[in-house]
Amino acid sequence: MEALENEATAAQTNTPEEVLDERTPEQSYEPTETVASEPWNDLPIRALLLTAPPPEDLDLFCGFIRDALPKEGVNTLVVRFRYQYQFQSHPELADIGALSRDQVRRMLQACRDAGVQLIPKMNLLAHQSDEGYIMPLLAKYPQLDEAPHLNPPVPWKYGGLHDFYTKSLCPQHPDLLPIVFPLMDELIEACEADAFHIGLDEVWILGDDKCPRCGGRDKAELFAEYTTILRNHLAEKGCRTWIWSDRLIDGKTTHLLGWQASMNNTHRAIDMIPKDIVICDWKYEDAPPTPAYFALKGFDVVPSSCYNAEAAIAQLEQVYFARKNGARAFFSAPLANHQRGVFSTSWMSAREFIEAYYGDPTPGAAPSLAENTANTFKALFAEVRRNMP
Ligand SMILES: [Zn+2]
Repeated sequence: MEALENEATAAQTNTPEEVLDERTPEQSYEPTETVASEPWNDLPIRALLLTAPPPEDLDLFCGFIRDALPKEGVNTLVVRFRYQYQFQSHPELADIGALSRDQVRRMLQACRDAGVQLIPKMNLLAHQSDEGYIMPLLAKYPQLDEAPHLNPPVPWKYGGLHDFYTKSLCPQHPDLLPIVFPLMDELIEACEADAFHIGLDEVWILGDDKCPRCGGRDKAELFAEYTTILRNHLAEKGCRTWIWSDRLIDGKTTHLLGWQASMNNTHRAIDMIPKDIVICDWKYEDAPPTPAYFALKGFDVVPSSCYNAEAAIAQLEQVYFARKNGARAFFSAPLANHQRGVFSTSWMSAREFIEAYYGDPTPGAAPSLAENTANTFKALFAEVRRNMP
């Protein structure tokens, strides 16, 4: 209350400029350089997400990279490895269909031939299981389970807003980072990556009351601390961190609810994590203005679409809208430049996506998820190419 009264007094007696001058050095802001506005239509990030193929589909995968990605205008391929890699540091963590280092090097060569940057992706918090399958990290190291008392298939169930969850890691467990860091390092080395996507989406189990380390802790702080630790490790390796957006959006105020936003009080982490993290703002049904929220908070952001072409193009229009403003005034460029481009995602095997991409739809049949996803990718990138300088 005292501070409020002081502010009111200052507002009555001082001009805004004088109030600014009275700020502490930490609060003052001096623009030190002029930032150039980027061309609105020349998007630095034009990305696609594919699942890592099993070894028998590697030729198909590399052929698609060389053939389709340059034609479409894709310049970034994010590959969801999860544990589908023959880790030398932890051979016990290789999942079904794991690729060898040589096979990943073939993937990398295909990306280089296509002029595409390869970004490896792992899920490093939630998505450690599905309904019936525990993925290798928790299968081999069950002590890392944030909530061992929640076990599939009970109470796994679908239908309600709060019925679904996947198993999560305990971000505070002392065994976690010594295991996870070498896995990340191996993928960075194999992909010669300078960016790494660490997932962090749909973390419903976090700060569980029964976890002796996390129980009772502020969930936003837990999320931010762990994100920052992973980001710092990646920065040491010369890699920029990419994450999904949903834990950083308040699902209650926005009514975006618990999947594409957070209903478990993690959203304040947006003010606690390093600003150089790239936010992949996944919205599959519509195009709310959340990318602008991340840009205003100082993050580079890419709206991330999936199976709805109309929504994907509406997201692209928002990117263009924001980027065009960068040319209007000298102070407009930084905010505009935070909108880096677009990210097409796919949530199926790479083979299903690629076959849908090349396939002829069956006349009269309802399109499959793979067909809708491939068609959304094509429609989005056709619009990107139509506008390119
Ligand atoms: Zn814990």
